[in-house]
Amino acid sequence: MRYISTRGQAPALNFEDVLLAGLATDGGLYVPENLPRFTQEEIASWAGLPYHELAFRVMRPFVTGSIPDADFKKILEETYGVFSHNAIAPLRQLNGNEWVMELFHGPTLAFKDFALQLLGRLLDYVLQKRGERVVIVGATSGDTGSAAIEGCKHCENVDIFILHPHNRVSEVQRRQMTTIVGDNIHNIAIEGNFDDCQEMVKASFADQGFLKGTRLVAVNSINWARIMAQIVYYFHAALQLGGPARSVAFSVPTGNFGDIFAGYLARNMGLPINQLIVATNRNDILHRFMSGNQYVKETLHATLSPSMDIMVSSNFERLLFDLHGRNGAAIAGLMDSFKQGGGFSVEPERWTEARKLFDSLAVDDAQTCETIAEVYGQCGELLDPHTAIGVKAARECRRSLDIPMVVLGTAHPVKFPDAVEQAGVGKALELPAHLSDLFERDERCTVLPNDLAAVQAFVSQHGNRGKPL
Ligand SMILES: *Cc1c(COP(=O)(O)O)cnc(C)c1O
Repeated sequence: MRYISTRGQAPALNFEDVLLAGLATDGGLYVPENLPRFTQEEIASWAGLPYHELAFRVMRPFVTGSIPDADFKKILEETYGVFSHNAIAPLRQLNGNEWVMELFHGPTLAFKDFALQLLGRLLDYVLQKRGERVVIVGATSGDTGSAAIEGCKHCENVDIFILHPHNRVSEVQRRQMTTIVGDNIHNIAIEGNFDDCQEMVKASFADQGFLKGTRLVAVNSINWARIMAQIVYYFHAALQLGGPARSVAFSVPTGNFGDIFAGYLARNMGLPINQLIVATNRNDILHRFMSGNQYVKETLHATLSPSMDIMVSSNFERLLFDLHGRNGAAIAGLMDSFKQGGGFSVEPERWTEARKLFDSLAVDDAQTCETIAEVYGQCGELLDPHTAIGVKAARECRRSLDIPMVVLGTAHPVKFPDAVEQAGVGKALELPAHLSDLFERDERCTVLPNDLAAVQAFVSQHGNRGKPL
């Protein structure tokens, strides 16, 4: 499989190189040159497979030529073996034909484990083969950091540095990062906000001199391997609910457009999906595009669903590329005008094309709490605020009651006690067994000023399992 850039000016890469790449050299994102397509018979024959075996069948075409089948199978079995629920991504019924797919049974209790547990193992495999080491520098407002650290903690050839805004992530989220001990794990609390952290990561990718030749790898969802891993659970859910003979709809709590883009790919690979709902919080750039063809940056608001607090959705570029007939020059032009003026619209027929599949809703904090309380009252299920936004959007935007609606349950409610408390649900939240002593564990974290040179100096001093690069 070969991968090409959405802006058309970077060299095509194979899977191994795309795994180790951040942005393409032309500023674009990598996508498969040709998407595999499965027949209905083929998909139907996968019914009842254990999750890791389904994952092998869905992802195999993407890694062909880079990872032999037997090795890939083994990696997948290990990856999903660490999940604490046998079904890996169980479905819970809320209502007649309405379901939540629980994607929070991985080590850090959010869906990001599906991709980052795999990414860590893939990196280790590829780097061992090449005899190389890499450094990861990532920014987090919460969930990505812990999932990335959990995913990479056993990697022999990876040193991981995660930047979070000092005193601005929840205690559970911070402890999920800082209590994981390893000489290749480095937590840095920046005296600044999340944007400051993200800017430092971007600047480090742009100028890698401080790494003394060591390669820098991306762990955010611009990394193709993360999107790839998320395609699988759309197939898994549909197969449980009568697919592919029957269509299924999905409602997806959305921030960077990574998770829902995986659903769009599943459909293009042959899975009958009749509707994808973009569910956002008050940071609603994607809802404004889907409802009114306006992709315009606005100020950032802090909400009860912090993992979706974004101003710009990086993976949206991957959808735009398809909507523009995979014309890289057109995407480079759009992204340029976005940078200059802060916004754009697409031609009406392209927008109409997107609307054949996508609907959207923006849900504010009050509605989020209402939905948590409503669902708890209706069936005793306690939702986290991100998932609640997905349920609200599913109920408002649903096209057909005959088609099963699956809401992606992106996090465990225990990660977001503030929202649950504000919803007035009188249920005690308990950490699952593997995290029950989280508040007693020792923390390891370095506080640094909001200064790029200080961060880069720290990385080059500690980037080789705690020793200088
Ligand atoms: C990251 C995250 C999201 C948003 O996912 P995207 O792929 O960025 O759209 C939603 N909910 C939770 C809990 C998350 O951690």
